[in-house]
Amino acid sequence: MNHEWYNNFVDFIQLNNQNIYNEACEYADKIEELEDCEACYGQGYVHSNDEEGNDEIQKCDECEEFESDQDAREYYRDMGFPEFSYEEELFRREEDSDA
Ligand SMILES: [Zn+2]
Repeated sequence: MNHEWYNNFVDFIQLNNQNIYNEACEYADKIEELEDCEACYGQGYVHSNDEEGNDEIQKCDECEEFESDQDAREYYRDMGFPEFSYEEELFRREEDSDA
């Protein structure tokens, strides 16, 4: 990739959407930090079970990348994993109540 092109690319994002630029930086930092965790293989979340034995995404307690299981699930969904759909309804409800 052309270096000047990349600089212009970054300038454009910084000028037009400071927020996404900052988020991209945080994301890249996060990935770097996470690489070492052996419990979640650097993902920040683990596949587990709830009290009823259903599959559940929970935050990794080793690296505490996410503040809550809900944050971990949100991240998981944002990554676009379709198999985690059983809680979609619940998730949507929780999201609505946040708004
Ligand atoms: Zn971890």
